[in-house]
Amino acid sequence: MDYIAYAVPFFLLGLLVELAYGIIKNKNTYRLNDAIGNLFMGTLRTSNKLIIIGMAGYVFYTVETHYALWRWDATSPMTWIFAFIVYDFFYYWFHRISHERQLFWASHVAHHQSEDYNLSTALRQTGTGALASWVFYIPMFLIGVPSYVFISVASINLVYQFWVHSEHIPKLGWYENYFVTASNHRVHHAQNEQYIDKNYGGVFIIWDRMFGTHKVEDDNEACIYGIRGTLNTFNPIWANLHIYVKILKEMWFSRDWKEKLYAPFARTSWTPTSLPIPAPKDEFNPAEFKKYNPVVNNRVKGYALFQYLFITYVFLVFIQSDYLNYLQLWVTISMMTFTMYCTSIWLDGKEGSRMEMVRLSLCLMLGAYAYLEISLALIALSVLVYSIVNILVLLFINRPQAMPEAQET
Ligand SMILES: [Zn+2]
Ligand SMILES: [Zn+2]
Repeated sequence: MDYIAYAVPFFLLGLLVELAYGIIKNKNTYRLNDAIGNLFMGTLRTSNKLIIIGMAGYVFYTVETHYALWRWDATSPMTWIFAFIVYDFFYYWFHRISHERQLFWASHVAHHQSEDYNLSTALRQTGTGALASWVFYIPMFLIGVPSYVFISVASINLVYQFWVHSEHIPKLGWYENYFVTASNHRVHHAQNEQYIDKNYGGVFIIWDRMFGTHKVEDDNEACIYGIRGTLNTFNPIWANLHIYVKILKEMWFSRDWKEKLYAPFARTSWTPTSLPIPAPKDEFNPAEFKKYNPVVNNRVKGYALFQYLFITYVFLVFIQSDYLNYLQLWVTISMMTFTMYCTSIWLDGKEGSRMEMVRLSLCLMLGAYAYLEISLALIALSVLVYSIVNILVLLFINRPQAMPEAQET
């Protein structure tokens, strides 16, 4: 059973509690732009799973049915405990390779771009994970873990990882030695020299201690969150694709065929030596680090929040139900993605009005089509009311100025 859908309301409640706690304690760890970027990425990933028909299910089914070496009894508690521990072992290796090799980093990087660290960071998930991550779990089916147990322990593992994304939780004594905690996962998200590429475990930190990637959070060195080679945008599409584009560029421009073929499998710090113009190194200087935080006015922030709330409404009412058929799902998710892109233009401090007019015209046309031609009254009315309200709101928004200089809020 997949427990993630059941956990979502608790995730959102957790976010609000953490936000309130931070404000009361005068140590708020949220910025609206970064948090909305994270939540967009989470929504995108959960929606994509519904329309991408992956290879994973077919391969898992084939291995489980024809090649399993023996079968574990799904009703035995021992099977569950065994599967839970073994899953985390494979997760450790999948996660480690996701950091160390370019092709897998291209997908996993999405989880690490946030420069804040809070519970919304936990929901920032890759939209391209379905392409390859499942390969790492084939051995579980080979050793006979039932698919029902596999799906359950995988989702429990992910749900566990939610609470560790917080700056408010201190070190937890002996527990730090055996389990993944907020403190040792903060290290995992940090780009400081001594912290980078450490603490890959999902639930157990023992794998890191066994395989030499363990690092305790240093009380004298604060974590600086984010990735080397900052993204510098809240665009969720680019966030999901930028490392793939980097790899393709390296393959295209390098002059050596060996380097062209090696690029996807190279270490993440690697750059080809045969480029016509040498690639710049992602230098990191903690003393000069500034969070990406373009200045936008409060109306624009309110507008972005309004887009997030409407996307969440569409997601909960239409995407997660059986309301839409497959083609309609595609159209709706594409429009949601386009909305996220347009919102990111505003959050990046750029002029977004023109693209908004294109988007809202499309919304009006799709709303009218849904109402008149295919009798989807509820979504049609929702989109039409939203579009009209949105156009009126747009008229009252001052054009924000592009101000690339970062500020702390
Ligand atoms: Zn990671
Ligand atoms: Zn994380």
